[in-house]
Amino acid sequence: MLVVSEVSAGYEDFRALFDVSLSVREGETVAIVGANGAGKSTLLRAVMGQVRLHAGSVHFCGVDISEMKTYDRVKLGISLVPEGRKIFPSLTVRENLFIGSFGKRPGPWSIERVVSIFPMLDRLLNRSAAKLSGGEQQAIAIGRALLSNPRLVLLDEVSLGLAPVVVKQLYNALPAISNQGTTAIVVEQDIHQALAVSDRVYCLLEGKVSLSGEASRVSTSEITTAYFGAAV
Ligand code: ATP
Repeated sequence: MLVVSEVSAGYEDFRALFDVSLSVREGETVAIVGANGAGKSTLLRAVMGQVRLHAGSVHFCGVDISEMKTYDRVKLGISLVPEGRKIFPSLTVRENLFIGSFGKRPGPWSIERVVSIFPMLDRLLNRSAAKLSGGEQQAIAIGRALLSNPRLVLLDEVSLGLAPVVVKQLYNALPAISNQGTTAIVVEQDIHQALAVSDRVYCLLEGKVSLSGEASRVSTSEITTAYFGAAV
């Protein structure tokens, strides 16, 4: 479904990714792990068209999307849950969710279906999104991404700043998302959380892929070395 080939990308003169290659098959959940600044968010932005590629290519469902605008990638079926949630604080929960349906593809997701996987949102739909807890805002961000009916959803650090019990609640929704046929890339700093929900894992270290493999087969020591570097 997604093929990232030898991608280098960054910000103005600064290079954050070096020759990164990655592939995701339809129906898989793939985790990308790595320390602060390893390049995980930049990789998602490269897939989403939010940073320019210096080199390499990104193909989605056989289409070269390397130069495609972000909104056209959404129409093709890619959707991002950005790091930090990026909720619109002046809007209600329902309005925040509704925004995700602009330019949507045909598909199963509706506000009702989002509420069915995140029941905590049910009584909040008409409330201002600004006043909600971090977990509730994260549920909105995931729901908003789903409302475009993506084939591939990119989740950037869902667990950031949230209590473990809330993280568990949010990740419990992942099977319901996969069951709708949605493929997922999950970016996480928390290795255990990432491995628990994914079929395969890539580790980034200083902008390069330092490990890739099946989540059930990589050992703790392999992934620790890949995460922190050979010095560990
Ligand atoms: P974190 O887990 O802390 O979010 P990350 O693995 O997602 O880290 P990125 O956010 O992709 O890492 O950052 C990779 C590198 O790019 C870092 O050195 C970071 O400082 C730099 N960087 C990220 N965003 C920008 C930006 N908008 N402008 C300039 N440099 C940036």
